[in-house]
Amino acid sequence: MTEFEQLASLLFPDVTETVEDLEARFPVRNLKEGARVTRFAPSPTGFLHIGGLFSALISKLNAATTGGVFLLRIEDTDKKREITDGVSEIIKGLNAFGIDIDEGVVGFEKEIGAYGPYTQSHRAAIYHTVAKRLVEQGLAYPCFYTEEELTAIREAQETEGTPIKGIFGKWAKYRDASFETQKALLAEGKPYTLRLRSPGSEDRRISFDDLIKGKIEMPENVQDVVLLKADGIPTYHFAHAVDDHFMRTTHVIRGDEWISSVPLHIQLFKVCGFRVPKYAHISPVMKEENGGKRKLSKRKDPEAAVTYYAEQGYPKESVLEYLLTLANSNFEDWRRANPDAPQSAFPFNLKKMSVSGALFDLTKLTDVSKNVISRFSAEKVLADTLAWAGDYDAQLAALLGADEAFAKAIFSIDRGTAKPRKDIGKWNEVRDYVAYFYEALYENDLSALPENLSKADCAEILKAYLAAYDPTDDKDGWFSRIKALCEPLGYTPNVKEYKKNPAAFKGHVGDVSTVIRVAITGRRNTPDLYSILQILGEDAVRARLSAAMQTLEG
Ligand code: GLU
Repeated sequence: MTEFEQLASLLFPDVTETVEDLEARFPVRNLKEGARVTRFAPSPTGFLHIGGLFSALISKLNAATTGGVFLLRIEDTDKKREITDGVSEIIKGLNAFGIDIDEGVVGFEKEIGAYGPYTQSHRAAIYHTVAKRLVEQGLAYPCFYTEEELTAIREAQETEGTPIKGIFGKWAKYRDASFETQKALLAEGKPYTLRLRSPGSEDRRISFDDLIKGKIEMPENVQDVVLLKADGIPTYHFAHAVDDHFMRTTHVIRGDEWISSVPLHIQLFKVCGFRVPKYAHISPVMKEENGGKRKLSKRKDPEAAVTYYAEQGYPKESVLEYLLTLANSNFEDWRRANPDAPQSAFPFNLKKMSVSGALFDLTKLTDVSKNVISRFSAEKVLADTLAWAGDYDAQLAALLGADEAFAKAIFSIDRGTAKPRKDIGKWNEVRDYVAYFYEALYENDLSALPENLSKADCAEILKAYLAAYDPTDDKDGWFSRIKALCEPLGYTPNVKEYKKNPAAFKGHVGDVSTVIRVAITGRRNTPDLYSILQILGEDAVRARLSAAMQTLEG
């Protein structure tokens, strides 16, 4: 046995498997050519950032569109960041947006798939097996620095102005410690971390092709980074290499805060004898502020949390549609050409992602959402609103739920036509949208009556209409009747005629119908008035017309 091998046995007396065993236990996946294995690897903080959802979506799309596998791994090596059941919150967040997990963690302490465990805290034996192999090969070593010594090194490097900070070169005292020294320190029970014996050199550079950012060149890693902490728990870097190798990830898609670590990661894959995966680094989701751009912040921006979208009542389809417009600049053109195609039909391409960071804009999201909702069926609008209101607006839920056919009729107005209305951007706007259909929400507000007419003029129109109103009219008959009101009252049914000679009339048919519209709904701008009258029914229509007339006359 070499001294390295003896050291490895001393450090890892409990390791029973070999790296070859792991290779056999987690074989290269039998997938069709070009299939990508991607993963989302959050820490269980219980908080799903919209940027996290964005990167999970990109990973999912890459797997789904290539016939690959999308897995969820929980990175819980940093216990400080963990909260109780933070995993469920993240899974709930992904599920709420239909980002289904093919493999990995699917619930609290629940996993599916043959490449697990998928929770890092359950993978200690796997990390130790690989670490042991590295020690045997002289590629990793125990480092006995105390916290105080490490602080002193950091301070000395600050003072010297060393460009690279960390343990390397003359600072790596235990890198070449003799086996005798190592044995003695271990016998004393001195705590140690396991460090990489970095093969990097300060005058070499590495380059790699990032699938989003293109070719990137950086200095090689020279630091003897920690692989296992003193408690045997791996660092993120080491766990990344081991996990993504044995889970057979082909494409590592993650936030670009990790770009600076890529030289280390590539080195770790190589040192371990693993094939380096492809990398794609996503720029953070940005927000415009005071003319500048900054990252969406968990602390400052409520819209950074995915729960915000559920609370506001943005349908998941809208959020996904918007994220796709951020993901690929050609998505909107594709959508215009394929208005009814499912999102999954979009030929997503990593190469078309923004390099500088997509700007997240709630107004744009709401616009996108108005389009998406305008294509929903009335049944879906009702069902989704009821589901949302059940959690966030009990009164609305009760009103809509009391007579679903009535509610469905409201949502059916102009729906399914070539030009559906785009009034609703999120479910918390439905209350206002339906308000005048429900006495409990309706406000008899006449302030929107046309300014060019007096109260007496308006009252006169309402009186005449009340007398003429026939609830059995069809739409054409109804409008003819309104036109017929015009001339006797001094209005013209012909807008062009009015424009030619405005002094000859009190107004035109548009003014007449606006007066009726405002008396019935309290608004100047509504969907088709004929449909509104039909839904409200004769009694409500007559009552509102009379009430408005009285107010105007009073
Ligand atoms: N746990 C890391 C994070 O939350 C994952 C990074 C990666 O995807 O490799 O940022």
